[in-house]
Amino acid sequence: MSYDKALNRVLDTVKPHIGEGQVADYIPALAKVPPQRFGFAIYGCDGDISSIGDADVAFSIQSISKAFALAFVMSGRNPADIWRRVWREPSGTPFNSTVQLESDNGVPRNPFINAGALVITDMLVSDHGPGGAIAAILGFMQLISGAQSVSIDKEVAASELATGHKNYGLAHTLKSFGNLENDVDDVMRVYAHQCALTMTASQLAAAGVFLARGGYDPIRKSQVTSNEVVRRVNALMLTCGHYDAAGDFAFRVGLPGKSGVGGGILAIIPDQASLAVWSPGLDQYGNSLVGTLALETFVEVTGTEIL
Ligand code: GLU
Repeated sequence: MSYDKALNRVLDTVKPHIGEGQVADYIPALAKVPPQRFGFAIYGCDGDISSIGDADVAFSIQSISKAFALAFVMSGRNPADIWRRVWREPSGTPFNSTVQLESDNGVPRNPFINAGALVITDMLVSDHGPGGAIAAILGFMQLISGAQSVSIDKEVAASELATGHKNYGLAHTLKSFGNLENDVDDVMRVYAHQCALTMTASQLAAAGVFLARGGYDPIRKSQVTSNEVVRRVNALMLTCGHYDAAGDFAFRVGLPGKSGVGGGILAIIPDQASLAVWSPGLDQYGNSLVGTLALETFVEVTGTEIL
């Protein structure tokens, strides 16, 4: 089935549900996003591109940025240096949970819960400096999406910094266990700006295609990172990409995927395509309700073989 046909089938299925779920409001600037949005874009490994709905409307990618930050950091570091500071196990807890970090002696369960992402951001700050880390991750996203218009929404970043008490708590706990090299304020500033990256579903699908092609970027015809890094990022997306609903997402969709509280989800079909869907209403776990339904429908109607 062609991607266009599959996307039309997806839209037929999700249409009655568009607007369902709760738009994230714990970051006040995100609460303003209209819940009726829905966009879905596909970037095939063979260059076949297709999209439907609001695929060219920019949104806050939030935690989807964690998958890219991890790939970026892994590309420049010795693996042992990373994996002694963060584990690779699903946490079974909400994205911003503080409960495990203390009993786990300051070592987060995985790089996609907020505690683990803060450790990865700390590495970004160590590698590029407090002044250069934001520009480094923005430049990486512009490069791999092929879009200079990818930007950071300063209002969203400021809004998160003004209200991110739990994340500050996590960062201070990490620091108290010696698992943060840089100042809490520097790490938090970079983390909030990274989460405030603003992209369209079409740009996000393009940015993710190297994860479907063993690290090769068909847009620029160059290797972005190694196959080994991609294999590991995809494994973590499959097992930990949806917080305490990671198992349910794997059961329903079966693809490596990473969600964000802005309502976006990036999903990868290895050797085939990168998929990006956006619908701002979230389920109780902080994952896009209609976005998950859209991906589930996509794999069903296309008969995608997963593993
Ligand atoms: N910036 C958000 C936070 O730390 C990201 C959460 C998410 O997208 O799941 O709360």
